[in-house]
Amino acid sequence: MKIDLQSPEVQFALEAVGFASELAYRIRSEAPIKIIIKPDHSPVTLADLGIQAIVGGLLAQYFPGSSFLAEESADIFQEVGGGANLDKVTGLVHSFLPQATPGKVCAWIDRGKGPLKKSFWTLDPIDGTKGFLRGGQYATALALIRDGKVVLAALGCPVLDLPAHYGLGKGVGILALKDQGCWAAAFEDLEDPRRWVRLKVSQCQDITQARILDSFDLGHKDLEKNQQIKNLLGIIPEIISLDSMAKHGLLAAGGAEIFFRTLPVTKPAFREKIWDVAAGVLAIEEAGGRVTDLEGKLLDFSTGSTLAHNPGFLATNGVFHDAVLETLQKVTAA
Ligand code: AMP
Ligand code: MG
Repeated sequence: MKIDLQSPEVQFALEAVGFASELAYRIRSEAPIKIIIKPDHSPVTLADLGIQAIVGGLLAQYFPGSSFLAEESADIFQEVGGGANLDKVTGLVHSFLPQATPGKVCAWIDRGKGPLKKSFWTLDPIDGTKGFLRGGQYATALALIRDGKVVLAALGCPVLDLPAHYGLGKGVGILALKDQGCWAAAFEDLEDPRRWVRLKVSQCQDITQARILDSFDLGHKDLEKNQQIKNLLGIIPEIISLDSMAKHGLLAAGGAEIFFRTLPVTKPAFREKIWDVAAGVLAIEEAGGRVTDLEGKLLDFSTGSTLAHNPGFLATNGVFHDAVLETLQKVTAA
């Protein structure tokens, strides 16, 4: 079975993650990278803003009436020094979309503002910005949601290589289409259906050999609790720490078996942003894995910008799902 790249949705998604990854890679190699701190204290770079503008601009070309929900906001240019940042972002975007002007760049970034339709695109321009700054993993994540379900996912992972597919080299695009599978290709081959390889989750059946993925960022994980869960499950390999949805790509490709997020003790009401999750979920499911919240429920993407009905997160190769879920529930109830 070959992947079908013909639909305008797929063409848009591939152009978007291809441009995004090129821009991110370019900025990453031109250190020092300028960092702006957002009101929630998380960092954003001109690459995040440039990518969101490019994807918003492409979306306006491909699907003018479409709905868009993305992480960043052009309000950031209202802050001190914002004008110079806007000029720099416009320069970056211009090399991909020559019609870019400062006004258009702001409008493209803010395409997401306004009521969402039942069908919409969601984007994290750079998931794992801290990994991007540190020289670690990061990903551009784009997904199409219809009636609360993810139907198309595209991930651009410029510094990820996939076990079992090392021939693709470092830097891969991942595409998942509902009921049609999950696939990966090197960035230079995104347009060629013959160069895409199908991804399958690990077939490991022995939980003592399972590999757990976790955030790199200590603020996004409970080190002690996660270690306790690993021990209760009798897992031998060390936990693998990785930023961003590169984790989801790695799990889809069979490079690990388990990834979960328990609720932060200090923020028990924490719910995931949908742009941090959507693309990765479809990639894992279409590669044969399973994804639920900590109550074992499927994720509901019909609740706006956060997964309001879904506490926590669990993705596995399927084989270990029930066992991990049971342990997570025991540990989090204690
Ligand atoms: P990470 O897995 O550390 O790369 O995180 C991926 C994304 O999830 C980032 O965009 C974070 O903002 C978000 N995230 C995950 N856990 C938390 C948390 N406990 N608090 C705030 N944001 C989080
Ligand atoms: Mg993110």
